Amino acid sequence: MTVRTRFAPSPTGYIHVGNVRSALYPYLIARQTSGQFILRIEDTDQARFVEGAEDLIKDTLNWLGLNWDEGPVFGQTDKETGDFGPYHQTSRREIYLKWARELIDRGLAYADPYSPEEVQAFRDQAKSEKRAFLYRQHRPNNPPEWHLGMPLRFRVPEIKRYTWRDAVMGEMSAGPEALDDFILIKADGLPTYNFAHIVDDFEMKITHVIRGAEYVASMPKYLSLYEALGFDMSQSDAHQVIEQGDDKSTSTPQPDKPRLPIFAHVPHILAPSGNKKLGKRDGAKSVTEYRDEGILPEAMINFLAQLGWNDGTEQDVYSLNELIEKFSLDRVQRSGARFDEQRLIWLNGQWIRRLELDDLYDRVSDLWSDSAINYDEAYKRQVLVLAQDRLKTLCDLPNLTSYFFEEPPIDEDLITNNKQLRKLTAEERRDLLETARTELAKIAGWTPEDIQNCLNELLEITGQKPGILFSLIRIVVTWAPFSPQLNDTLALIGRERTLIRLQEYLNL
Ligand code: GLU
Repeated sequence: MTVRTRFAPSPTGYIHVGNVRSALYPYLIARQTSGQFILRIEDTDQARFVEGAEDLIKDTLNWLGLNWDEGPVFGQTDKETGDFGPYHQTSRREIYLKWARELIDRGLAYADPYSPEEVQAFRDQAKSEKRAFLYRQHRPNNPPEWHLGMPLRFRVPEIKRYTWRDAVMGEMSAGPEALDDFILIKADGLPTYNFAHIVDDFEMKITHVIRGAEYVASMPKYLSLYEALGFDMSQSDAHQVIEQGDDKSTSTPQPDKPRLPIFAHVPHILAPSGNKKLGKRDGAKSVTEYRDEGILPEAMINFLAQLGWNDGTEQDVYSLNELIEKFSLDRVQRSGARFDEQRLIWLNGQWIRRLELDDLYDRVSDLWSDSAINYDEAYKRQVLVLAQDRLKTLCDLPNLTSYFFEEPPIDEDLITNNKQLRKLTAEERRDLLETARTELAKIAGWTPEDIQNCLNELLEITGQKPGILFSLIRIVVTWAPFSPQLNDTLALIGRERTLIRLQEYLNL
């Protein structure tokens, strides 16, 4: 049987890092089994619908390289691909209504005769009596005939306890307290998530439901509906067995009945403080914002995969292909994973270092400082070679390299804030720089080796430590707190500019 996983976002705003992990994990499962990864747009909540959100979702997935096999097509509005569409829930009304009518016919769904105010009154009453509100306790005896425009509710057939297996959480059990006559079709004619996702997952032949832990609490509700719809509740299908590695099933599969998907509820991503769910206020930025800040998609994928998953080794850097090979749901941790942006930035630096120069050059093409426009590609590539190891994000480029393209403004603070250099008197500094300038001016060639030889000689002549002499030269030539190796830096800046910069400072 083919594995089919899905990402089912609601187009209600930007897509933040937490949401995207719910796309990555199903993507990895689909790819490692040569299965299919489906994008379904859950747009039934008209009140929360945000124009443009779907494009943002597609743009994000596309940037991350999480290509989907079925669903709305990237870059083309109103176009879908796949045999199980439509992939927008608002275009599937007829399908939900067909299922709803079947439930009505079987006495498993009924019209909710109460006004929203009346339902609210029930809720308030429960609250004042300090008990959980359960609609089923107000189930009408003779509900009116249902028609579009009225909420349609599921009639929970049996109040009981359910046990089920979750590929991440393990064996689970919950029951009566969570079972209720939930709404299937709202007054606006659209289905609720609770109903629509079950219909869609079945109709789209989804084998794995991988989603956020917030849905765990509703599992008894869903299981009760699955059961009412005639699903095989044994969770013992072939794909289940593949997932578990060996056959742990105790009950016999019932081939004539539709099968339950595998459920995998992925724990929340926690705020950096670790004590609450990551929210927009804790810096849960949109994924595209990270892109604009110079984060590579490789680093973002690497980071997200490891938010709550590890393969039991100390390895830090994983490519998407390696993740496809190594990822497994049973190694996703059950507790929440803390969001650590510093780690993302560290991983990004690791990934930048691993890029081929040509690739890196292409990715930074828009990021050079304005003055770089006057320099040719060969020169910029040389600058990039030197900067590559120091970039934490692509956007660091203009700041880290500006002195290769323009005369840097003198910044005395760099000297006074330097622990070693501030011990020197102004005369000592001047003497050192004068000697350096004179010796550097004498070298015949200007290769990194020539310069290094000269720098070594300067250490002997001046009797200074590299930490002092080289830092001083570096600062006066670049006016930057850090630079690549001094000899490489001077070589690229060129003899003339190096000597001029030293002289200019001496003139002061
Ligand atoms: N539309 C739901 C959400 O965005 C999808 C949950 C699921 O994957 O089933 O949270």
